[in-house]
Amino acid sequence: MSSVEEIVGRADALYHDLEFGSVKRWREAHGGAKAVGYLPIWVPRELIDAAGMLPVGLMGGRGLIEIIRGDAWFQSYICQIPRSTIELALTGRLDAIDGFLFPSICDVIRNLSGMWKVMFPQKYVRYVDVPQNYDSAVGGRFFEGELRHLWNDLKKLSGTDPGDDAIRASIARYNANRRAIGDLMALRSEQPWRVPTWEAYLVLFAGNVLPVDEHTAMVREYIAAARAADRPRRDNARVVVTGSFCEQPPLGLLKTLELAGCYVVADDLALGRRWPDADVDETGEPLHALSEGFLKHSPPTAARYEPDGDRGAPLVQLVKRTRAEGVVLAAPSFCDPALLEQPILQDSLDAAKVPWTAFKYSESLGQFQVIREQAGTFADSIKLWSEA
Ligand code: SF4
Repeated sequence: MSSVEEIVGRADALYHDLEFGSVKRWREAHGGAKAVGYLPIWVPRELIDAAGMLPVGLMGGRGLIEIIRGDAWFQSYICQIPRSTIELALTGRLDAIDGFLFPSICDVIRNLSGMWKVMFPQKYVRYVDVPQNYDSAVGGRFFEGELRHLWNDLKKLSGTDPGDDAIRASIARYNANRRAIGDLMALRSEQPWRVPTWEAYLVLFAGNVLPVDEHTAMVREYIAAARAADRPRRDNARVVVTGSFCEQPPLGLLKTLELAGCYVVADDLALGRRWPDADVDETGEPLHALSEGFLKHSPPTAARYEPDGDRGAPLVQLVKRTRAEGVVLAAPSFCDPALLEQPILQDSLDAAKVPWTAFKYSESLGQFQVIREQAGTFADSIKLWSEA
């Protein structure tokens, strides 16, 4: 059995590989089969996989590249991820990717899809629209049409014509993957000292570039290794981190939270890897099944339209379910969806008497001292209150 260090080392190498070497190797090993990239957060990866192509999650530059040309395309008051994604493309790092899907997250991503069409006319580009009506007969009907359009496009791009059974097989593979991730998250929530969040995140992140079965095996391997590892249990505060569903915080920030005395027992990092949060039906009409998975089992997040109800209630329920003692509202600077929702979440947390703290970050943040002091003070105050 591989050790935790070996598995995390493999995941860390994938995280730091901005040349997408693993994607290039996959293509070579599969006779030049194509790869399709997608921006955070949800796209039907099952359809890319079923068409014989590699889905590749594009999660920005991780603060690992200097953004020079990307900055020229955007005003200053905008988040970092579109700049670094453009920088990756303009520096040739995304050349091994043949198609790009832009999910419906926010105006920035919508506009980026239009820019991509203009800048890279030789690439396949599609904005993946999602319904704002969750009635299967209304929004579902629209959405199945969108998925059919996308499926036809992907078959054309791959030059293959697989049938519905291929999609069902992919749905089963992704269900298995999400179940493994669910087990990993459950272990971290139960025994956070065994699963530091930065490690769980690296393992989760590897799913952006690995074929799905390979990633499922990695997650299962990590769970077994983490269970077996002898790690000290500390008197840290149990916290939920939320707001980080799109542009990702730098790895150093996740390490800082734990060094400051926080055990992260739930988060929405790389949320697309765990979306939907229940199995998709593996037996019925597959596009209908994917549509229903989105309509009925999308996780609560600011990036998804919610017609009514208390938007803060799912966070309060998550706090209770995970026995969290506080919430860290960590959102990318200039992220409209996350920051516009934050006051609603704060009100709900206040009403439920759940302590919270909030800060903003960018993927290129390099100094963590201020956050360490803030998170440390937060963790200390939780411990003092809980002992009062
Ligand atoms: S970080 Fe926020 S504003 Fe920026 S692209 Fe993502 S969802 Fe949109």
